[in-house]
Amino acid sequence: MRRYSAFAIAREAARHHRGWERAWASPEPRKRYDVVIVGAGGHGLATAYWLGKNHGITDVAVIEKGWLGGGNTGRNTTIIRSNYLQDPSAAIYEKARSLYETMSQDLNMNVMFSPRGVIMLAQTEHEVRGYRRTAMANAQQGVATEFISPARVKELVPIISLDGPRYPVLGGLWQARGGTARHDAVAWAYARACSAMGMHIIQKCEVTGVTSENGQVTGVETSRGHIGCGKLGMVVAGHAGQLAEMAGFRLPIEAVALQALVSEPIKPCMDVVVMANTVHGYMSQSDKGEMVIGGGTDGFNNFTQRGSFHHIEETVRALVETFPMISRLKMLRQWGGIVDMTGDRSPIISATPLGGCYVNCGWGTGGFKAIPGSGWAMAELMAKGDSPLARAFSLSRFREGRFIDESVAAGVAH
Ligand SMILES: Cc1cc2nc3c(=O)[nH]c(=O)nc-3n(C[C@H](O)[C@H](O)[C@H](O)COP(=O)(O)OP(=O)(O)OC[C@H]3O[C@@H](n4cnc5c(N)ncnc54)[C@H](O)[C@@H]3O)c2cc1C
Repeated sequence: MRRYSAFAIAREAARHHRGWERAWASPEPRKRYDVVIVGAGGHGLATAYWLGKNHGITDVAVIEKGWLGGGNTGRNTTIIRSNYLQDPSAAIYEKARSLYETMSQDLNMNVMFSPRGVIMLAQTEHEVRGYRRTAMANAQQGVATEFISPARVKELVPIISLDGPRYPVLGGLWQARGGTARHDAVAWAYARACSAMGMHIIQKCEVTGVTSENGQVTGVETSRGHIGCGKLGMVVAGHAGQLAEMAGFRLPIEAVALQALVSEPIKPCMDVVVMANTVHGYMSQSDKGEMVIGGGTDGFNNFTQRGSFHHIEETVRALVETFPMISRLKMLRQWGGIVDMTGDRSPIISATPLGGCYVNCGWGTGGFKAIPGSGWAMAELMAKGDSPLARAFSLSRFREGRFIDESVAAGVAH
């Protein structure tokens, strides 16, 4: 794989950009691999990458029914932060956030990580107490956050209205090194790095069944034939329940549509990410100038990858209260993704009742930020059978009642 560099850009400019190689190969599937990962979203690709990079396992295929990054990874609003309350969550999200800091250099592709800072607004006394508590917990966990005053919020976000018609801004939880990254680029960068290690990324190949012998996984049935494997990783977000059913077990997970929208582009007016959990909406400005707006989840289970008008109305109403100037913006487009929600709003990274079969899911509305850390933990679990970062997120917590309650941190879709 040729490295991307300033020199390469100059060289290609001089020869009319005829020398660029394809970023990743599209091989025919082989009959068998040591490891098969189902799902070429960020988490699946990151798992494959760290299997190769940290554990030297490169006989890996990543199988994707659509196109890589075409699931939630390419549909999210790209907020990255690690200000969670519980220790296991702070550990894995902070690991991920710190890996984002150097991802462009590590993977030799610009993922446009922009640590512009994230504010979670406190608009009720309850939220003030909750965020002060999180800031205290984060201080113990080594995650740099602080509770800031309304005056500081206004300084950071001049377009905000502190005296909303329903809820005044009473302060905010501020993470200065939180931010955003370009979502497709994250998937592309991992895919390119995996392909360079000789792994196979097989797109347009749907997994339709899981085969096993004596309680041990032996492979997957796909729309392109049977593919054997020694170990199987199921990393399919909102479709985790269906994959689990194919493998013969059930997951405590629900699938719901989550949606987002963007406005027409305008001049730079907001250089941080703002989340308003009480009125329920969040917003950041993309490099193109569009306001990127996140809404809520549907109140019922479904697999429709699209938006709905009542959500647009609710979300935009909430944000107009918070940023009155956006009432004059036209919205350009909306879309949806199918997210995978657990009861405690924490992910599952776990071995399963089927030997050799592992699952990574349950990131719900907030897994983009976790991609590098989640892949790191899942790869370690698959390679060694245990991972300190993943331990608390095993399936056994639902049997044993060891919930990792992050319903406040995940209170708004992000
Ligand atoms: C509108 C929206 C906004 C969001 N905003 C944020 C945010 O701001 N910050 C944040 O941290 N998170 C956010 N999220 C959540 C985040 O996008 C997800 O948690 C994350 O992308 C999940 O990644 P993944 O790799 O697990 O899943 P995906 O990217 O969905 O990848 C799973 C892949 O599996 C494939 N697949 C499924 N079934 C099969 C099969 N049978 N055979 C083969 N392949 C299969 C799918 O096609 C898909 O490509 C948002 C999500 C949405 C929908």
